[in-house]
Parts: sequence; C-alpha cells; structure tokens
Amino acid sequence: MQYAITSKGDAKSEAIKARMKQYLQEFDLVYDETTPEIVISVGGDGTFLEAFHRYKHRLKETAFIGIHTGHLGFYADWLPDEVEKLIIAIAKKPFEIVEYPLLDIKIHPEEDEDYQQFLALNEASIKSAEGTVVMDVLIKGAHFERFRGDGLCISTPSGSTAYNKALGGAIIHPSLNALQLTEMASINNRVFRTIGSPLILPNHHVCELKPLYHDRSFLITIDHETTTYDHIKSIECRVSDEKIRFARFRAFPFWKRVHDSFISDERG
Ligand code: NAP
Repeated sequence: MQYAITSKGDAKSEAIKARMKQYLQEFDLVYDETTPEIVISVGGDGTFLEAFHRYKHRLKETAFIGIHTGHLGFYADWLPDEVEKLIIAIAKKPFEIVEYPLLDIKIHPEEDEDYQQFLALNEASIKSAEGTVVMDVLIKGAHFERFRGDGLCISTPSGSTAYNKALGGAIIHPSLNALQLTEMASINNRVFRTIGSPLILPNHHVCELKPLYHDRSFLITIDHETTTYDHIKSIECRVSDEKIRFARFRAFPFWKRVHDSFISDERG
C-alpha cells in the first residue's frame, strides 16, 4: 500500500513524520507523495485542510488520517502518544472508511459562460474590502432575501465546528448531507431585513449569491485560502457529489470530539 505524510513543518510534527516513515517502511508500506492510498496529516486541523487540498483531485482513491501535535482536533484526532498503535493498525488491519460531505462552489464571472469551481472541506466565506456586502440570496432559484452586512459563510457539516460556530451557526453531524449559511453582522432595521438565523439546506437545494453591485471586489475564502474577485455575477453553493474519506481504526464519535474540544477533555 502507498502512503504519504504531510507535516505542519515544526520540529515535533517532523519528528513524528520521520518516525512513522521508518516504522511503516518496516511493514512494507511504500512512501509515495504522488498517488498515495493513505494520506497522514501531522499537525492540526489547519495542516489537515492543506493535506485535503493537496490531494483533493484523487478523493476516491485516498483515505485520510490526522495526527494532532497540539491539542485535539476535529480532523486531526490521533494524539502523538497513540502513533505506535496507529502504525500497527494501518499495517495490520483492513480499515473502515467514514465519509463526510463537502461543499461545491462555483464562481460565475460577469459576461462569461465559464466559471471557476472549488471544493471546500470547512467552508467558503464571502467578504468585501470595500464596505458592506450586498447580495441577493436565492434558494433553489427563488429569491429569499437581500443580504446587507459584513459577509456570508457557507459551511459543510464538519466545518460547522470552525468559522461557522464562531458566527453562531449550529453544529451539524457530518452524517447529514447538508450545507449551512450563516450571516456576518447583517444590517437589520425597518428598511433592511434578513432572516437573521443560520439556514441549513439539504443536498438538493442550491444556494445562489448574486452581488448587487458588479463593480465591487469580494474576498472569497475557501477553507484557508483567500482570493480577491472582481466582476462576479453569482456564487453557486451546493453539497458536492464528492466526499472526503477517512480511514477509521477506532470509534471516536463526533459528539465526543465536540465535547472534548469545547466542553472539557477530562474524563469523568
Ligand atoms: P487559523 O486562523 O490559523 O486557525 C483557525 C482555527 O480553526 C485553528 O484553531 C484550527 O485548528 C481550527 N479549525 C480548523 N478547522 C476546524 C474544524 N473543522 N473544526 C474546529 N476547528 C477547526 O486558520 P487555518 O489553520 O488556516 O484554518 C482555516 C480555518 O480557520 C477556516 O476554514 C475557518 O473555519 C477557520 N476560521 C475560524 C475563525 C473563527 O473561529 N473566528 C475565523 C476565521 C477562520 P488547529 O489549531 O487544529 O489547526
């Protein structure tokens, strides 16, 4: 079996990477950064996002594993002192696969039929460096509201514990094929009105965002990468047909991860 390891690059992560490479070689696993069947990310959830984007072109052939060298993470849910146990599990056991939904984003420029397509593991967020974001929000082709505010965030279920949570969004279990739209400081008064609540859409509902002023530029962040776009006609978001696959060697329920990350990681 071929595998690759991506590391945060700090001394601790690099040491774990070196140790794992040495052990996995002894179990006849082949290190291959081009066509790995297993990708092990060593660092944090941020490092995991980078690993996902590096290998997102071969999601069907790749299973991901995350080791956290800081505190416990959502994607990086193995701890450094569990590395030996993990290596033996990778080498010996056929592993179970758990799939999580992803977000599909299409950015349509003005006066052009071509669009740019992206995949997000956590979310896409839209902001502006030129003041208030003004956008029509359409759901399944029907006008829903005219949003005015700092921006909008569209997240996946596994991304719901990240930026979405800080924006007051709900935490969604990743077994649900859904996306969530959250507002950033919407303007709400007698003149301007938005729903003011996060919206959770099922996988057959497309959410379209149409800027009112086409001369504005927008800062669109897909997971950890921000790009400035000018002359956008619309941004189309839907639950992707693709999924990320995790190699699972032990039970670690999502709600336990939520509890340990946000409530307390002490037992009892
Ligand atoms: P960063 O600003 O260096 O780190 C953002 C934090 O979000 C890190 O603590 C990271 O965990 C954590 N995180 C990432 N994915 C998560 C998830 N699915 N559930 C819970 N926590 C998660 O940025 P980065 O490392 O490049 O990561 C980009 C992500 O940052 C974005 O996708 C966005 O979700 C998040 N973000 C959050 C806020 C906010 O909460 N106010 C604002 C902007 C962006 P690790 O420490 O394990 O890497």
